Amino acid sequence: MTEEILPNLYKIEVPLPHNPLRAVNSYIIKADGKSLIIDTGMNRGECLRAMSSGLKELDVDLSRADFFITHVHANHLGLVSTLATDTSTIYFNQPDADIINSKNLWEKASSFAYINGFPENELQRAVQSHPGHKYGSKGHLDFYILKEGDVISIGDYLFKCIETPGHTPGHMCLYEPNQKIFISGDHILNDITPNISLFSSEENPLKEYLTSLDKVYHLDVRLVLPGHRGVFNNFKERIQQLKYHHQERANEVLSILEKGSQNAFQVASQMSWDVDYEFWELFPVPQKWFAIGEAIAHLKYLEEAGKIRREIQKQKIVFSLK
Ligand SMILES: [Zn+2]
Repeated sequence: MTEEILPNLYKIEVPLPHNPLRAVNSYIIKADGKSLIIDTGMNRGECLRAMSSGLKELDVDLSRADFFITHVHANHLGLVSTLATDTSTIYFNQPDADIINSKNLWEKASSFAYINGFPENELQRAVQSHPGHKYGSKGHLDFYILKEGDVISIGDYLFKCIETPGHTPGHMCLYEPNQKIFISGDHILNDITPNISLFSSEENPLKEYLTSLDKVYHLDVRLVLPGHRGVFNNFKERIQQLKYHHQERANEVLSILEKGSQNAFQVASQMSWDVDYEFWELFPVPQKWFAIGEAIAHLKYLEEAGKIRREIQKQKIVFSLK
């Protein structure tokens, strides 16, 4: 299913089966030379079929197409290894490229989840069923690395690269100042809130995310093209809502810790989640995995803000109010 958003700029809705996100948006910019494909879907048959039929409908030839990938998550990057040809340039960012090349990624994440209270007997299932593990890109990818302020000129469009770390360490948005369009990836979504999660002790993604929201707030944007769900235009209002949302979440975590010191898994089990399951115990393992990641991101943010402290008890990390 393709939709023309602006002249020569189209959206293909790529389905994500059995995934709460439902679909990912791929944006196609047609040009006389090479066309540009922004984000691709997961590396699985359903996504490939949707992309292939959408590109055929738009008369876009993969041998004359380049790619821009907003961030490392499998539903944006996964299929690029199948779609790219020998002549394709794949534009990407360095921090997320480093994640693809990092060794023992899943082992490190699962042992970190474990010391944060994730049940040992569910760890393997969490990793095995993770979309990044199952539907990520295959084989070696050569990227053309973009940085803040770099420009992609395509047809009548001139996109400026804006680094927006938070959702992932290297997340990158594109801004077209003449058309005032903002390709937001998963930095700013309208009907759902981007997942901010952490599976290591080194970063503070929520702090980075909030800084990245402030960074783009001043831009003159009349249309946002997000990675999921519909395009929208209340750019500044949505940024304020997202900032408020995370403040509320942080306050919720603080009120949970008023009951006493707890590990991140225990905190996650008491946070409110916008899902179809009535009790935490009914959450499928992948949902618990995303939940603990989000809880850890908020705990880390509160810890660095000096509001809570961490300590090790019985080889697990626990948090308590200061
Ligand atoms: Zn994402």
